[in-house]
Amino acid sequence: MKRTGSFKLSTTPQQSEAFSVLARLFSDACNEMVAFVQVHRCWNQLELHHLVYYRVREAFPALGSQMVCQAVHRVADAYKSLRARDGIAKDQPVPAITFTPASVTFDHRTYSIRGDAFSLFTPTGRTSVGFACGPRQKTLLAAGKPKEARLTNRKGIWYLNLVFDLPNPAPLPGSLALGLDVGENNLAATSNGRVFRGGKLRHDRDRYLAKRRRLQSNGSRASKRKLKAISGKERRHVRHVNHEVSKAIVAQALQIGASTLRMEDLTHIRAHIQAGIRVRTRLHRWAFRQFQDFVQYKAEAAGLKVECVDPAYTSQTCSVCGGLGKRVKHRFACSCGNLAHSDVNASRNIARFARLSSPARGVVNRPEFAHGVRPRAVESSFL
Ligand SMILES: [Zn+2]
Repeated sequence: MKRTGSFKLSTTPQQSEAFSVLARLFSDACNEMVAFVQVHRCWNQLELHHLVYYRVREAFPALGSQMVCQAVHRVADAYKSLRARDGIAKDQPVPAITFTPASVTFDHRTYSIRGDAFSLFTPTGRTSVGFACGPRQKTLLAAGKPKEARLTNRKGIWYLNLVFDLPNPAPLPGSLALGLDVGENNLAATSNGRVFRGGKLRHDRDRYLAKRRRLQSNGSRASKRKLKAISGKERRHVRHVNHEVSKAIVAQALQIGASTLRMEDLTHIRAHIQAGIRVRTRLHRWAFRQFQDFVQYKAEAAGLKVECVDPAYTSQTCSVCGGLGKRVKHRFACSCGNLAHSDVNASRNIARFARLSSPARGVVNRPEFAHGVRPRAVESSFL
């Protein structure tokens, strides 16, 4: 599993200056490539490399060969995630991405760890820089294998965010699986009947959106600044809620003795949420993705196996008899007598569906929840 450690660097003013120059050159090189990506509709790393490498090398001699490779990598990655997030339509021009000098990517050819210092590439040669090392950083250095890194500047201080490859924790025994449904009406529901409502989250976002609309219609420079501050605040808030809820879900999986956590493949989630634009603007896709990432991250660290299943039919299928039921808002009803919270029903299907493809796994369907449970009784007032 991968974990990132943030190392605060003890830079001299000269080193700080060299990093600033590097960051500027790096982002300029990235921006230089964008036009080629757009014209050739090319974001495959290897193809882009062939397309731009010599040109960029010539234009930015101080960057050196390895840094230019890193820049190509960065641009290709940025377009890949843009494509995964918003899609790039075949008949539409490729959107421009603007790179800022906020961070520089390093790999084993451009940095190394030498005892209690990093040796980092700069346009004026390698430089050795010390770093602060807390308990987390010490553990990572001792147990993990350092991989790629990002040099960033936050409020005038330079950090190296280093990704480590760590051995996976021993898998938990047993065959019990907890199903997790990520919804729109509720943030999440688990197959043992717990519902995590995003009520507070949604209310807050409504407030943010109202404020944002007011500022957007204003259009002045001050209101644009304010807008930026608000969206940062909003992001941090969603992040906080996602952290808390994912933590609670993993704790629950451990509590019931599950060894597997199963959820839907969220790359498809937009397709099966049928909602008006007003609802859709509330929780953007990144919030779902972040939530799933957090769940996966925490689950794997706890030794849970994480599986993603095809979300098709998880919401209309009855988790008791397998027939087609009726879903009206947060109620699910089936002619077999199953009456459940619709998200809980979906999460049970998620647990069940994968069992069909790998029969060794079990389903968390506690008998008291299997038939006609009153949804209200199991709702959690987590938020
Ligand atoms: Zn049924």
